[in-house]
Amino acid sequence: MKATPGQQQLLLKTHELSTELQRAKRTLAELESGAALRELQAEMRASSEVLLSGQQRYEEFEVDIARVLTDIELVDSRIERDLARLATSSNPKDIGGVQSELAALESRKSLLETSELEFLEARDAAGFEVAEAKKLRDELIEKIAAVEATIHVELGKLQSSVSIVESEIRATRSSLPEDLMAQFDRKASRGVPIGRLIDRACGTCHLSLTSAVYSDVMSSAEDELPTCPNCEAFIVR
Ligand SMILES: [Zn+2]
Repeated sequence: MKATPGQQQLLLKTHELSTELQRAKRTLAELESGAALRELQAEMRASSEVLLSGQQRYEEFEVDIARVLTDIELVDSRIERDLARLATSSNPKDIGGVQSELAALESRKSLLETSELEFLEARDAAGFEVAEAKKLRDELIEKIAAVEATIHVELGKLQSSVSIVESEIRATRSSLPEDLMAQFDRKASRGVPIGRLIDRACGTCHLSLTSAVYSDVMSSAEDELPTCPNCEAFIVR
């Protein structure tokens, strides 16, 4: 294939630009798909669930505590009433009955107080969990906002670099002969279309050229663009 050294350099540049364009488009697609955010959003959902269940448990324990306190008040008022009866009664049978009821009430009160303590501890633990989940959620909200802002900036940069590279590719292509571009595109559709000669190897497939091919390549005219017999890419000397 005929191509002046200048055209050969332009072909190499076209290939480099196309590679750059593909890379930028891949990153763009990744950013647009929101992959970077997905993990944070999953963490956010998990922490919201922890927060919600913590809040529910906190409220349930509050109800339990209120119920136990009401029960304690009831027991207290019965104890007070029994003590008043005890103070005024002189009937030994009555006194005995009241005393055994008082003992039962005291043990009931002690059980209720133990429950109250347990519920208070459980409520505080749930409260701590809620506070931690809120802290984590606030951190995640900040992180998500920061990632979104970065994505926004990166998207803008990538979109403009994609359009710059696209117009560079158009400009480079339009300065090259059509038949050369057609050959280049055919090779590009099968793989890498062009590479430099590196030592005695094809820069595209990295296979060493045989002595005969190498001397053909090196002895061909300056405006001749050789092709690698192995991978069929153009070889630029
Ligand atoms: Zn090759």
